[in-house]
Amino acid sequence: MRKRRYKEISVSTFLVPFLAITLSFVVLSSLTVQAIRNYFEQHVVQDARGLALSYKSNLQKAVEAKEMTNSLLEDKLLMAGRTVLSTGRVMDNLELESFARMLDVDVIYYYDQTGTLLSASDSKNIGWKAPEGHPVDRFNRSGLEKHVEKIRKNTITHLYYKFSYFRRTDGTFVQVGILADKVVAFLTSFETERILLELDTLNGKRIVSFLGDDLHVSSSTDNTQVGLRITDPEAVKALKAGDEYHSYQKIRGESYLQVFVPVYVDGLKLGFLSVMESMTKNSEVVGGVTTMSLAAMVVVYLSVVFSMLSSFRKTRSLVQTAYFDSVSGLPNQAYLLEFLEEKILHGRNRKKAVVMVTVTGMKVINLTYGLEEADRIIRNIGAHLKLQEKENLRFFRFSASQFIVYLEGYRDKDELLSQLFEIQLRGLGYLQDKSWEHELSFQMGIVELTGHSSSADHLLKDALLALDQAKRNHDQLYAFFDEAMEKQLERENQVEKEIRNALFGHKLAQLHLHYQPQVELSTGRIIAFEALARMESEKLGAISPQEFIAIAEKKGLIIDLGYAVTALACRFIQSLDDAGYGEVRVGINVSVMQLLRDDFLGKTLEVIKDYGVECWRLKLEITESILMENYARINEKLAQIRQLGMQVELDDFGTGYSSFARLEELAIDALKIDKSFIDRIADGRKSSLILADLISMAHKQGLVVVAEGVETPLQEEYLRENCCDYLQGYVYSRPLPEAEALALLDKTGLKEKWKMDA
Ligand code: C2E
Ligand code: CA
Ligand code: CA
Repeated sequence: MRKRRYKEISVSTFLVPFLAITLSFVVLSSLTVQAIRNYFEQHVVQDARGLALSYKSNLQKAVEAKEMTNSLLEDKLLMAGRTVLSTGRVMDNLELESFARMLDVDVIYYYDQTGTLLSASDSKNIGWKAPEGHPVDRFNRSGLEKHVEKIRKNTITHLYYKFSYFRRTDGTFVQVGILADKVVAFLTSFETERILLELDTLNGKRIVSFLGDDLHVSSSTDNTQVGLRITDPEAVKALKAGDEYHSYQKIRGESYLQVFVPVYVDGLKLGFLSVMESMTKNSEVVGGVTTMSLAAMVVVYLSVVFSMLSSFRKTRSLVQTAYFDSVSGLPNQAYLLEFLEEKILHGRNRKKAVVMVTVTGMKVINLTYGLEEADRIIRNIGAHLKLQEKENLRFFRFSASQFIVYLEGYRDKDELLSQLFEIQLRGLGYLQDKSWEHELSFQMGIVELTGHSSSADHLLKDALLALDQAKRNHDQLYAFFDEAMEKQLERENQVEKEIRNALFGHKLAQLHLHYQPQVELSTGRIIAFEALARMESEKLGAISPQEFIAIAEKKGLIIDLGYAVTALACRFIQSLDDAGYGEVRVGINVSVMQLLRDDFLGKTLEVIKDYGVECWRLKLEITESILMENYARINEKLAQIRQLGMQVELDDFGTGYSSFARLEELAIDALKIDKSFIDRIADGRKSSLILADLISMAHKQGLVVVAEGVETPLQEEYLRENCCDYLQGYVYSRPLPEAEALALLDKTGLKEKWKMDA
């Protein structure tokens, strides 16, 4: 069983790897994009971490600076306080002012025991009394000898100061203050914005903020961020645990990656540094890199797909060449065989038929209009058939002028035929529409698939057989393959076997010749015998020459059979010589297939020489009907035969198309008038004037005339009256076995006319 290769090369064979490639391309691309994104995200997180580290170290320095500044201020205050106390006097405003200038402090205030301002270096607010709870009051009540305050706002001037207090022995006390606004500003900026701004090197593309432990933004390079609080539960959870955390944020419609890094100073968590990096720029970079790598992948992808596609196309075109006919565009024989094999196996319950359609007349078109025109017609027929194709109606090109129609699902033979005629009529109509004046017609051999249909080859052979049947009768449009044909086929095979046996096996005896005398009408002498082949097989009995000669021609065995007949005829001539009839000739029938062989003459001469027979003793009978097909070549051969001394007789004259004009140039010696002409003399009314004309015209051309199939004395008489030269027929003798033929000669001698009882 053939494998259906055609089906396998469908689009799906390409589609599966194509989809696989496409899928892996998509997956790979998204992985790549993800990887690139991750890389950049990681980059930002790494950045933030670095920033946090530098922020932390800056913060550390700030703390140190603060401490240092504080202690410097404290030293200065203590020294100033001690100096003022050492005067031991009550100081007025002027004195305090000069002290302040001298000691390089900003204010010096002098209070009495109740905390009321007695004098001041700036001469302001004299008489002001510190209210309860005020730092001045608190020192007064504390009983401490001296005290240095932390930097605080002056409740009156609202400026930052660092104050120190020194008590005198009488209970009055001095307050020395250094204006710390600048220090505070310095330290504050040190802690927050300045550090943040320093960190912000990306001109606003990066927002750096500091969040206290309470998750409020205490300072930021972006003012809108200050005061905001982190509320995202996941972020809150991570930050409370002191972990790093990052997420995406939208600010003013722009996407930011926000990274939180906890900031520790001396093991103490101060809060978190938040670094927000704009992804717009990053996405530009990410986009660029992504586009580039995607472009590279697309190039790879496209080239893979392209090479797949071209290999698919190539395979398909190979399949196209292997399975489709290039002229008609229809599937070819190879496809048909696979198609039929499958149909034999499947769908047994539907009616199916294979129809071999032959376009008669193609040969003529080929010869007269040329191959191109013939191809054009076939192409048009193919295109026309394709239009009619349906699921249950398929067309194939089988050979040069043969198409196959496959039909399925029809009801009965009548419906099948009507469908076929419809197709055919449309086809013919189409051809006529196209105004081809060439005579084209169709003949069909139909075979129905039965449950017994064994193989595609067998089906096609049956269809061919049916077509042959239709062809045998020129008018028949179609023929169904039936059992009789199959039997005939079987019979043909058996006969072929018998012929082979006779020729190449050891059963030559199966093949022998009978001899029918030809008699000279004027004298009654037997002047020649026609050798007629006979076959007798053990299995099949006698086989008629009509049958086995036709089969031998069909199977190419006629060549060897011809030599065998020639040999037997030569042996008969030897017998004639031995019996003393050295003047009697023997005619043998030669098929055109034999004549067309280049080695025909040479080999025939070899056989003749083997028997020591002279050429002039042989006559070759050539059938008229087939002569015309290869006229020039055959005529040349005939001339050669005659040159060798053999006579040539044109057999079955009147059944073909020879005209007398043609006969003139034909290299022959005699005409053998066909039996059908002789039969017309049967009524005795001499109605056949044609025959008389034939004879006289032949004579005018110098041809001898032989009448064959003469059965009655009346016919014989007519022929004699009309000057026919020789007679052959049952009226004189049937074809006889060798011994009887010789006996007949003996009986008649060479002179006496003798009639056998028919
Ligand atoms: P053919 O060459 O036309 O042979 C004449 C046929 O007419 C012979 O039939 C013969 O028996 C028959 N016949 C002769 N007289 C009469 C008659 O009075 N009445 C009737 N009804 N028939 C008569 P046969 O022997 O059956 O041969 C048939 C054909 O087979 C021959 O036709 C010839 O074409 C072919 N054939 C026979 N032997 C050979 C051969 O050796 N080689 C070739 N190539 N063809 C042969
Ligand atoms: Ca003959
Ligand atoms: Ca004949």
